[in-house]
Amino acid sequence: MSTSSQSYPMSGGDDKHSYIHNSSYQKAGIDGVQEKARQYILKNLDLLNMNPNLSTFTIADFGCSIGPNTFHAVQNIIDIVKLKESQENRFVPLEFQVYFNDLPNNDFNTLFRTQPPSSGQEYFSVGVPGSFYGRVLPRNSIHIGNTSFTTHWLSKVPEEVCDKKSPAWNKNYIHCNDLIEEVTEAYKVQFTKDMRVFLKARAEELVAGGLMIALGQCLPDGVAMYETWPGIVKDTIGDCLQDMATLGLTTEEKIEMFNLPVYFPQSSELKGAIEQNKSFTIEMMEIVSHPLEAMQLSNNFVTSMYRAILSTVIEEHFGDSVVDELFRRFAEKLSKHPIDFEKCKKQMVYHIVLKRK
Ligand code: SAH
Repeated sequence: MSTSSQSYPMSGGDDKHSYIHNSSYQKAGIDGVQEKARQYILKNLDLLNMNPNLSTFTIADFGCSIGPNTFHAVQNIIDIVKLKESQENRFVPLEFQVYFNDLPNNDFNTLFRTQPPSSGQEYFSVGVPGSFYGRVLPRNSIHIGNTSFTTHWLSKVPEEVCDKKSPAWNKNYIHCNDLIEEVTEAYKVQFTKDMRVFLKARAEELVAGGLMIALGQCLPDGVAMYETWPGIVKDTIGDCLQDMATLGLTTEEKIEMFNLPVYFPQSSELKGAIEQNKSFTIEMMEIVSHPLEAMQLSNNFVTSMYRAILSTVIEEHFGDSVVDELFRRFAEKLSKHPIDFEKCKKQMVYHIVLKRK
């Protein structure tokens, strides 16, 4: 999307001073778009009046993790559908079936153990293990799909970035920080492919008129990953790995072969990737500042957040002995050289509602 058609409810843009340093204001911005999506559903969800005999309303959350965010997302959808139901003269009361999808190694036991006790009265739950980069549910079976903060996880690391002979070799960097054009291109190609597969699968699973809600992070056009604080964090983790290689705690070769399967598209790339699927209409697309950008982040918060996000992938590649030492060093580096969060460029949050044609 071009900047002009982007919606910045919080008057974001490039002017540093327009990023308001008031978390409640920014939070209101995010709540504002979520409210907008709710209003959209309330007004435009025509599945109920199209199917007066519909008795089971199905919702799927793709990349649900272990909770609790998935429970809020699902409950919000149910609340709005119930409101819609109450506004229509329906003879058959709706029952809700919720599919919780994630990769097979997700801790589904924790998910089901920590479900709010009241959810049993609200909906029936099913766990669906499998990659959302492919079909995980039957054709024509879902009324509303949701996915939050998931599709920046690619299906795989693009091969070239680990190939020393390729111009897209990512050297000693551990993620797509946008410092090497060919690397960015390789990640972008993978992201576009993955989005194509993701949307194709969802288009098959959703009924005609069904909605797909997607929330996630992207970069404003023209902003490089290394200019944002999450980019700096990952580069710093890479530096710590280098220090550990110098001390013999890991090896250069291992670092060279390691890249995160993560890519944050610029907003126009994201829009392009979505528009390539012709089975959906884009009903709503809002891009707002990330609420975290307004918080005073502490070093401890950043360390534990990234440890939670990255320890599994790091452990798989470097072995479990590396993780403790790596994050101890990372915390130490942050305390010596704190990140100036205010000076960093901002990542954005997108909120999209698609309708199955
Ligand atoms: N939706 C939750 C969790 C986001 S974390 C929230 O908003 O808080 C991202 C989740 O996506 C993780 O649980 C991860 O396992 C899952 N994920 C990543 N790639 C996936 C894939 N290919 N298929 C299914 N789930 C995936």
